[in-house]
Amino acid sequence: MNVAVIGTGYVGLVTGAALASVGHHVVCVGRDVKKIKAINSGKSPFFESGLDALLARQRKMKRLRASDEFTKSVQQSDVIIIAVGTPTVQNAIDLTAIREASKQIGVALKGSTKYRLIIVKSTVLPGVTEKIVKPAIGPFGLAMSPEFLREGNAVGDALEPDRIVIGVNDKKSASMAQKLYAKFDCPKVVVNIATAEMTKYAANALFATMISFANEIANISQATEEIDVVDVWRGVHLDRRIKGSGMLSYMYSGCGYGGSCFPKDTKALKKFALDIGIKPDILQSVIETNESQPYRLVKLLKQELGNLSKKRIAVLGLTFKPNTDDTRESPSFPVIAELKKAGASVISHDPMIKNTATIQEVLKNADAAIVVTAWDEYKQLAATTFKKLMKSPVVIDGRRIYNKKQFTDAGIVYKGIGV
Ligand code: NAD
Repeated sequence: MNVAVIGTGYVGLVTGAALASVGHHVVCVGRDVKKIKAINSGKSPFFESGLDALLARQRKMKRLRASDEFTKSVQQSDVIIIAVGTPTVQNAIDLTAIREASKQIGVALKGSTKYRLIIVKSTVLPGVTEKIVKPAIGPFGLAMSPEFLREGNAVGDALEPDRIVIGVNDKKSASMAQKLYAKFDCPKVVVNIATAEMTKYAANALFATMISFANEIANISQATEEIDVVDVWRGVHLDRRIKGSGMLSYMYSGCGYGGSCFPKDTKALKKFALDIGIKPDILQSVIETNESQPYRLVKLLKQELGNLSKKRIAVLGLTFKPNTDDTRESPSFPVIAELKKAGASVISHDPMIKNTATIQEVLKNADAAIVVTAWDEYKQLAATTFKKLMKSPVVIDGRRIYNKKQFTDAGIVYKGIGV
């Protein structure tokens, strides 16, 4: 099939490459000429493990290209996938890009009699595909098929999905969507459009809830002054209902979730619930716990150092999680803002962010170090490195990546979430 993917971000580009890998002819439609050039030379404009290799392979097979020619790309396609951003602005979903892309598709296909399927892959609230996309695109097939890939594992997730959710309200759209995904060997969950939209929010809200729950347990444990939450989770995680499951990775205490999805999607779902008369008590608590969690790191630091004015604080990690270059809604932002508000001088490091200092440079003469992202580079740091380089060896472990005993034995003041 000829497929046009609108949007060349994490979801658009990875989806395009995955569809090309099963034999479709894909054009990824973007607006930034520099990014399009990069993709056409087999290079991703952002970091995602394995994506460059996948792009290069598909380019070589002549099944994938990028273009800024919206109208032509859409007109030449059997399937058009909308993968534009749906940020949350002032606690509500911002549909500007969805409206614009849908309108552009409608204009490009005006008068065309050939049947095509338009698929919404962006995360949108129940009702958006039917009420906003459908009237704009014209009399074509319509589906909503949310994306579940995780940044950092996006290529693997897209090539071997756990499932594909296909939301359709008519048979012709359903059979065309099934044809598009036929070569992906996984369960296909065919539901109506609103259910597909809700499935994505339910999945993200579940993982966000698990993270905030793990953080609430950490905060309760910490207040007792005799419980270390890391030991609590060791005891809980060995339960055979949890052990070995991918869910485990969401059940560790830390300084909160960030990224382009969980924060915006939980807030959008909360607003949606309120708008239809449902009080989303759990979601509300999940969001509140998450928003206060980064500040706990600064609170722990103040307990140790007192006044932070003119103190040199090293912040380790700017991305919202390891193995990505995405800093959207990273807990590092509230941490750094709070430190600066208290008069501290902040120096940060991140393996993915250009122009940050080296680990050694940030630790040198620091009054304290705060770990915000659980990068392997930080996990591998020995307690002696902190001791040797820092002016006063205070380590605030926002991800609980260090062994408390080893650090304390090395003469470090070790503090962290839930300890
Ligand atoms: P992104 O911001 O990385 O990419 C969106 C791209 O769409 C941008 O490059 C933007 O320039 C482009 N765009 C917007 N309007 C356009 C138009 N009219 N024509 C051409 N290009 C246009 O966003 P993303 O992270 O890829 O997310 C896209 C959607 O997928 C969002 O709804 C998001 O919630 C959802 N999602 C994201 C992830 C993730 O991990 N990033 C996972 C699952 C679902």
